Amino acid sequence: MKIIPVPAFRDNYIWLVHDGRHALVVDPGDAVAVEDALRHLGLELGAILVTHHHPDHTGGLAALLARRGVPVFGPAGEAIEQVDHPVFDGDEIRIASPGIALRVLEVPGHTAGHIAFVGIDSEPGLVFCGDTLFSAGCGRLFEGSPAQMQHSLARLAALPPDTRVYCTHEYTLSNLAFARVAEPHNPERDAWAAHCEALRARGEPTLPSTIGRERAINPFLRCDQPGVIDTVAAHAGRRPQDALECLADLRAWKDSF
Ligand code: ZN
Ligand code: FE
Repeated sequence: MKIIPVPAFRDNYIWLVHDGRHALVVDPGDAVAVEDALRHLGLELGAILVTHHHPDHTGGLAALLARRGVPVFGPAGEAIEQVDHPVFDGDEIRIASPGIALRVLEVPGHTAGHIAFVGIDSEPGLVFCGDTLFSAGCGRLFEGSPAQMQHSLARLAALPPDTRVYCTHEYTLSNLAFARVAEPHNPERDAWAAHCEALRARGEPTLPSTIGRERAINPFLRCDQPGVIDTVAAHAGRRPQDALECLADLRAWKDSF
């Protein structure tokens, strides 16, 4: 089983999972990019997964489905016209071609019904987390509260450390620029930043990351750490009372960074 990024727009990745014959795609915002990749690799599309309703994740659905009938799994809590398999938290999806099994995790915050897909039996683990968790960052709170995002990030952070994190945007370097300010002393983060800068200089993706790495370097998963709390306090002019308030202040700070 191979997982490859299909670049779209400015900084989106449409993840394509294939076994050499059949493919599934996650968050196909752009049908042309997906059709080109399928043709180039000689693959037949077998299923589509959608994490949330934003157009850069759903814009290619109509055109892809106009040429074929494949199941579209997406959040039951969001109105996405082409989703014919609405899924809830805890649902298990088994796709025959390509052969992959996934468990649904509801992770609201970026949008109200955002879901992630967690690999079952994949070794090491994997998660398609859309715009909820990015490397060194998290999604903006367009529809959810800081408390929802905190809970969602905690659910993702609780996955095994070697779980590969397939998020949907190449935001890593700009997130790392903020992370450097939010938590000045973090040698593991500095090493990851150097690695990512080299990857981007060669035009390569920085993803997937892993849950273990994100726990070590991502300030949004580190709102209980003194190194993050201190800078958030200095920036906000008051000390956050708890990790939730720290996350809320950190998110607001990043929004205007
Ligand atoms: Zn989004
Ligand atoms: Fe997006």
